[in-house]
Amino acid sequence: MSLANGRTHLAIPGPSIMPDAVLQAMHRAAPNIYEGDIVTLVEGLIPDLRKVARTEHAATIYIGNGHAVWEASLVNVINPGDKVLVAATGRFGHGWAGQAAGVGADVQVLDFGLKAPLDAQKIEDALRADTNHEIKAVLVNHVDTATSILNDVPSVRAAIDAAGHPALLMADCIASMACDRFEMDAWGVDIAITGSQKGLMVPPGLGFVFFGPKAKEAREKVERVSLYWDWKPRSEPAYVAEYFGGTSPTHHLFGLRAALDIMHGEGMENVWARHDSLARALWAACDAWGQGGPLTMNVADPAHRSRAVTALSLGGDKGERLRKWCAEEAGLTLGIGLGMAPRGSAEAAGFFRIGHMGHLNAHVMLGTLGTIEAGLTALDIPHGAGALSAAAKVIAAG
Ligand SMILES: *Cc1c(COP(=O)(O)O)cnc(C)c1O
Repeated sequence: MSLANGRTHLAIPGPSIMPDAVLQAMHRAAPNIYEGDIVTLVEGLIPDLRKVARTEHAATIYIGNGHAVWEASLVNVINPGDKVLVAATGRFGHGWAGQAAGVGADVQVLDFGLKAPLDAQKIEDALRADTNHEIKAVLVNHVDTATSILNDVPSVRAAIDAAGHPALLMADCIASMACDRFEMDAWGVDIAITGSQKGLMVPPGLGFVFFGPKAKEAREKVERVSLYWDWKPRSEPAYVAEYFGGTSPTHHLFGLRAALDIMHGEGMENVWARHDSLARALWAACDAWGQGGPLTMNVADPAHRSRAVTALSLGGDKGERLRKWCAEEAGLTLGIGLGMAPRGSAEAAGFFRIGHMGHLNAHVMLGTLGTIEAGLTALDIPHGAGALSAAAKVIAAG
């Protein structure tokens, strides 16, 4: 008998859980988009967004998903034909590289595979080899959502500086922001991007581009940016519609206001610490399951694991079977494996992911883990004992 009736839980790496306060804030009549409360609402969002990215510089909002800000970030600083260097640690690195090629950049990909973080020395070597300084930007995924690899962004800043190279440092924080610690200014990041539907707890539909002074200067050297994607009016708007290149995404903004209130009410340090504890509880459970069966985390070294998403393998078709069981029998949706094997191949069915970004607390994490344990048991997938008590110990320690 299915036990799925009740509130479902989506544990995929975005969209994440939406807080009731966010949903309630969106449930209202449409406001005037030209004057009144909407103006003060938007003006208040900008400094609070800066606090999430830990920057004093520009914060812009686009109506679009992560792919939209992949593109927005590029077109403001890259002319067709300019070189960009991409550090790929999974499918999302290749995705951003593809987007760069699509806007006419000459893309060089450093592929670090699917198991290891980027190696900043290789980036430094590539920049040193670029004696004419043709590379305009280095693109890095803070977290690659497919592999769940966490990259060391400050090491890339150090590599760029050691090579004495003027390239911009661009960080994709779509998965990681407000889950894994990220400090844009302190880490010397020139451009950071994120989306609304992951750590920021708002439905998909908003993208954010943060940029510092060097990026602002680079924008002046770009011959032409189509008006919609140009970050200039968005960052220095003369009137409210310039924030968005047209009509405001009204209800998303109400939701975002509520989400930022939740985040800053908790405090960024506490948000990061909560995700750290919850991720360690998950890893402890996975370690225990793996002792007596095929379950393995994709990233062996905890220092290189994200606190927003965990990529796992069970082999065979066990990843698919577990996902199906959890959804149909228990109301829990786990993420598909992405980029670990060709889409639709037999091998792809062995992978899955657990999203743990955003509005997540101890009981939701323990419920997710308990459900996975039930699924492994129901499907006769061998697994080690003690996973739930290992997770509970981490939670109990805070
Ligand atoms: C989700 C994600 C994207 C793509 O975002 P969409 O909203 O799906 O377009 C890009 N990069 C990373 C790291 C992501 O997690």
